[in-house]
Amino acid sequence: MIVILVGPPGAGKGTQCKKLVEQFDMKHLSSGDIFRSEIAGKTDLGQKAKQHIDKGELVPDELVIDMMISAVKNADYNCILDGFPRTLPQAEQLDKALEKENTKIDAVIELAVNDETVVQRISKRRVCPDCGAVYHLETMPPMQDGICDKCGSKIIQRDDDKREVVLERLETYHKMTEPIISHYKDASAAYIEIDGSQRPEAITNDIAQRLKEA
Ligand SMILES: [Zn+2]
Repeated sequence: MIVILVGPPGAGKGTQCKKLVEQFDMKHLSSGDIFRSEIAGKTDLGQKAKQHIDKGELVPDELVIDMMISAVKNADYNCILDGFPRTLPQAEQLDKALEKENTKIDAVIELAVNDETVVQRISKRRVCPDCGAVYHLETMPPMQDGICDKCGSKIIQRDDDKREVVLERLETYHKMTEPIISHYKDASAAYIEIDGSQRPEAITNDIAQRLKEA
């Protein structure tokens, strides 16, 4: 089964991927990880991708697709795609490439979380610049206001976690993801919407249940 998992930043995609990998014996294919390992392994595809990256260019879609398809084959067509496809043209090219392998995307799972919840989750995150500890002002505050429990440094808010930036990231997310979701609905892949505001265990159970039905 080939599944695409989408969700806004802060929806806990990484956590869910890990749990699904354990439960379903699927491989987690994160496009970022695959890039890095192809490049580190100096494969043909990795070398080609590196030439673009070194020039400060985006890696062309054909190359991205080739890398993903080879990873999907290595996973015996049993995998969760994370961070890919990112755009509608990528989704269309992925479909064509999968068709050549006589297979297709089986389901698209969306971890749906409303924007305000995402903003609340992310904008209250604080990190320690010295030891990397992560806090949340509501759910996991440091014992002493503004001070890291582990090393005593002043904790900070990362620029990426600021409200305005999160709102921008969300806008980009919706713009990119909605066409992909409607594309797969038309292509008759199962669309599975999961309430991403639940606790992580409940989310995993929901996904597992719906995947069995798909
Ligand atoms: Zn610290």
